[in-house]
Amino acid sequence: MKRSNDYMELIIPNISENESFSRVVVASFAARLNPTVEEINELKTAVSEAVTNSIIHAYSEEETGEIKIMGSIENNTLNLVVEDDGKGIKDLEKAKEPLYTTRPELERSGMGFTIIESFMDEVEISSTPGEGTKVIMKKSFSTSTNKKE
Ligand code: ATP
Ligand code: MG
Repeated sequence: MKRSNDYMELIIPNISENESFSRVVVASFAARLNPTVEEINELKTAVSEAVTNSIIHAYSEEETGEIKIMGSIENNTLNLVVEDDGKGIKDLEKAKEPLYTTRPELERSGMGFTIIESFMDEVEISSTPGEGTKVIMKKSFSTSTNKKE
């Protein structure tokens, strides 16, 4: 990701508290794009899903792992990357299918990637078993002038 003036990077451990922490950090970073409430809620949900995946699926419970979040702003577009060095995904095409989960015992519904794809304009997932997973996302924000300042 291009390290422009409008750039952020956050490295956090895989503890569940970091789901809400990262959601708030990314939402405040995106605040300079003057988003609507709906846009910010969509962004927060996508961040939560991606970070939760890294917390829950990437590392085993006892393992401490890092999650890296990078954001950059270009014009009215937010580029976002959520990355881990965890176990990776064996069958990515299957993982992207709605309702597919490898953790039904945790009451996961298998909707995370589907939700991310519906709330972000572009999504690219790359994953290598044994190396980790990277979710690259883009979201463009409306530039309407009658939004609340
Ligand atoms: P939900 O998100 O609805 O709680 P889920 O996490 O199982 O359920 P998705 O977010 O769509 O559903 O992910 C689908 C599957 O992809 C997961 O069950 C898991 O096997 C795999 N997966 C997703 N993210 C990662 C990751 N960062 N590392 C390893 N495996 C992952
Ligand atoms: Mg998920």
